[in-house]
Amino acid sequence: MKKSLFIQGGHIIDPSQEIDEIGSLLITKGKISWLGKGEVVPPQTDYDVLNAKGLIVCPGFIDLHCHLRQPGFEEKETIATGTQAAAKGGFTTICCMPNTNPPLDNQFVVDYVKSKAAAEGVVRVLPVGCISKGRKGQELAELGELASAGVIAYSDDGEPITNSRLMRRALDYSRAFSLPIIDHCEDKVLTEGGQMNEGIISIKLGLPGIPAAAEEIMVARDLALAQLTGARLHIAHVTTEGSVDLIRHAKEKGIQVTAEATPHHLTLTETKVIGYDTNAKVNPPLRTERDIQALIRGLRENVIDIIATDHAPHTEVDKLCEFALAAFGINVFETALGSLMSLVHNGQLTLVTLVAKLTGEPAKIIGDKYGKLGTLATGTSADVTLFDPDKEWVVDTTAFASKGKNTPLAGSTLKGKIMATISQGKLVYKDDSL
Ligand SMILES: [Zn+2]
Repeated sequence: MKKSLFIQGGHIIDPSQEIDEIGSLLITKGKISWLGKGEVVPPQTDYDVLNAKGLIVCPGFIDLHCHLRQPGFEEKETIATGTQAAAKGGFTTICCMPNTNPPLDNQFVVDYVKSKAAAEGVVRVLPVGCISKGRKGQELAELGELASAGVIAYSDDGEPITNSRLMRRALDYSRAFSLPIIDHCEDKVLTEGGQMNEGIISIKLGLPGIPAAAEEIMVARDLALAQLTGARLHIAHVTTEGSVDLIRHAKEKGIQVTAEATPHHLTLTETKVIGYDTNAKVNPPLRTERDIQALIRGLRENVIDIIATDHAPHTEVDKLCEFALAAFGINVFETALGSLMSLVHNGQLTLVTLVAKLTGEPAKIIGDKYGKLGTLATGTSADVTLFDPDKEWVVDTTAFASKGKNTPLAGSTLKGKIMATISQGKLVYKDDSL
C-alpha cells in the first residue's frame, strides 16, 4: 500500500467548483491533495493507481434522509449493514432519522449512534435529532442539548408535527442553533387507513387512498409557519405537483425553505402497486406520472433542492403479508443511482444537475459543522464516488449489503452503476470488474 491513491483520467463532475471535464485526483492522508485537469500526472510518484477511464468521478453522494434502524430495530438494518449498503450506492455521508427505539431525542442516544458509526460504520453518519420528546408531538425535545451532541437537523420523521403551536415553537427555537426543521408532511386524519395514492387505481384495487391534499395541507401550513418565524424549514419527500407549486411560490416570496424528492417518487408511479406488491407500499405513496413530471421540473428549477433516499429497510416478514398489514418503506441505497440515471438517459436531467442534487446541494443544507462536504476541493475530506453511467445491471436483492430486500425494482435492469466509493480517503466499495 502506497502513501497516496491516484484516480486517473476520469470525467470529473464537481458542481461545487464548476468542473465538468477529464481530469485526475490524488488522495493523501484522507484528503484531496491534488486535482489536475486534462491528461496530467501528479507532482509525486508514491501512489497506487485507480484507473477511472470511462467513469464519472464526483464528490461522494450525501443523503439527508435515511433510516438505519439502530438502536431498536436491528433485525431490519444496523449501522454496520446500512453504511455498507450506502457505500455500495456511492454515498459517503448519510443522515439518519431519529425514529429508532429509543428515539434520538437526547444526547445519550445521539452519542450511541455516533460511537457505533465510528466503530462499525464505513461511511460518515450524521444524526438527525427529534423535534419532540419521544416523537410524541407533545413537548419539544431539548433542542440545545441535541445541537451540542452533534445533530445536523431536527425531525420527527414518520410522524408529522400535528400541533401547529408546537411546530411554531420548534421553528422558533431552531433558529438559535442554525439548524433546519425537517417535516414529514402528512395530515394524519386525512390519511388514516390509507394504503396507496388516492385515485382510479386505488378504487380499482379496493385499497383506501392517500390523497395528495394530505401532503399539501401540511406543506402549506409549514410554509406559513416558516414565514412567521423566519426559521429554516426543509420539506421531506415531496411527492405531489401541488406541493411543488406551493414550495415554488414560497421561494419566490423569500421564505427559507428547502425540499427533497426521493429516487422512487421521481421514477416510479402508483401503477407499481397493481398486483398488490407490498414492496411498492411506501409513505408518502408513489403518485402519478403528472406528479413525477412536476418533481423533475422542480429539480431543474431548484424548487426541489436535493435528492434524498428515504432508505427504509424492512424484514421479509414486514412485507410478506396482506397489503393492508405490510410496513411502509422502500430499500433505496443500492438502487438509487441506477434508477436516477434513467432521468439522465431520457434527457430530463443533466448529469451535472443530478450530481449536484446528490452532493453540493445537500452539503449546503448540512453546513460546515462536520467540515466542508460535497466537494472535491483540495484540502477537503476525500469523499469520492466513481460510477459508470452506461453500465447495465440487474437488481439482485440477495446481493444487497443492506439487510432489507424490500424494493419493487428487484429483477429490473438499471443503466448506471457505482464502481468505487472512497470515504475519508478509504476505499470502502469497489465493483468486482474494476
Ligand atoms: Zn417520512
